[in-house]
Amino acid sequence: MAHHATMPERFWNESIETLAPAERRRLEDGHLSEQIAYNVATSPFYRTRLDAAGVRPDEIRHVEDLVRVPFMEKSEIADSQADGTLLGVNQCAPLESIVRIQATGGTTGQPMRIGLTRRDIADYGEMGARALWAMGCRPGDIVFECMNFNLYSGGLSDHLTFETLGAATIPFGVGHSERLLTMMAGLKDPVGIWATPTYAVRLAEVAGQLGIEPRSVGLRRGYFSGEAGLQVPGYRERIEEAWGMVARDQYGTGELGLHSGECEERNGVHFGGTGYAVAELIDPDSGDVLPFVDGQQGEVVYTSIRREASPLMRMRSHDLMQVFTAPCPCGRTSFRFRILARSDEMFIVKGVNVFPLSVQVVLMKLAPRVTGEFRVVIDRPPPIDYPVPLTVEAARDVPAAQHQALAREIATRIQAELNFTAAVTLVEPGTIATERKTRRVIRSYRGEVV
Ligand SMILES: [Zn+2]
Repeated sequence: MAHHATMPERFWNESIETLAPAERRRLEDGHLSEQIAYNVATSPFYRTRLDAAGVRPDEIRHVEDLVRVPFMEKSEIADSQADGTLLGVNQCAPLESIVRIQATGGTTGQPMRIGLTRRDIADYGEMGARALWAMGCRPGDIVFECMNFNLYSGGLSDHLTFETLGAATIPFGVGHSERLLTMMAGLKDPVGIWATPTYAVRLAEVAGQLGIEPRSVGLRRGYFSGEAGLQVPGYRERIEEAWGMVARDQYGTGELGLHSGECEERNGVHFGGTGYAVAELIDPDSGDVLPFVDGQQGEVVYTSIRREASPLMRMRSHDLMQVFTAPCPCGRTSFRFRILARSDEMFIVKGVNVFPLSVQVVLMKLAPRVTGEFRVVIDRPPPIDYPVPLTVEAARDVPAAQHQALAREIATRIQAELNFTAAVTLVEPGTIATERKTRRVIRSYRGEVV
């Protein structure tokens, strides 16, 4: 690793990011043993879970041993918060040690709360700084943080990772696009943005409407998060050309934090959570662990190995990813990956996250005139800047003559409660629902079929 020492600027944390595989395993195994012992000592939920599986905590000494530990679901945490409990079953630190609460979307559409201790926050910053450094961010860079600061980690916690790295970070938040453009253009130095790729496209449109040439604004670096948009063919190029910027991809989750970023090779995002979390790949149907080899696809399962407040123990993400373990020319030795599908089926309209469950909640208010079954078919790559095609089942006893008025009423409600415009089509009951779990969001432009 001697030659790396002459190029310290390549890494945020060279000794960790260039660890040989065997050394990384040793680090992970050590942390894993400690974490499991801590979980069992502090959480009755985790204690019971291992007991029921007939596993003693000291039997989990290597990542491979995790196969004996039952999976957990995000919904178990969310459900345990439903009665008003702040953090629920996976809380392992006393409230006196917890200094921040963030929330994540969760599969139920209800925000799920996550706690962080001071050490968790320091760790979050360290992971995030590795990812942002890989993405090209450096001390001295000016970064506009344009994520939602309301509850979600992408706002405050991610903001602080830019500070950890040493970037001059501006907590701008969402909306106020005109003011943002004016402020960016008013600075002499080039600037960067932390946002969803959709927002970068939207912002270019706003600039156009205002008669501002996007390339004149000085926005030269995009750190993008929250969507798989950059992986859509042609989408990254469109953003880079519009702004004259370099766009890099990032991946994180509310539960784990901002952990992975894309290096200059653009061959997947480097896992930056070494020492904090381990990932396994499983077959989403059978739950069998899959070999973690180059090119492998599977559902990713996360286990915290250094987390105090809200550790995860084999939590199913329901995200399908493909991993790449071949060496990367940048020198980072962690695995790389790309997310193939997020099964939570969230979609984003003009920067607003929409969860299928929220749509369902609105529709159920119109029952019994509608069945509550619906489907969104997105036929173009993001951004969604047009009325969202929403197919809804009308109840059988609603006469066809009333369909048009009902469709209008649904669209009005969606607009009022979820803040997006829907193009509503009514269909016969039974057209959408099947015995299988209904897919609510179909991205037909990616070849997804109903
Ligand atoms: Zn790399």
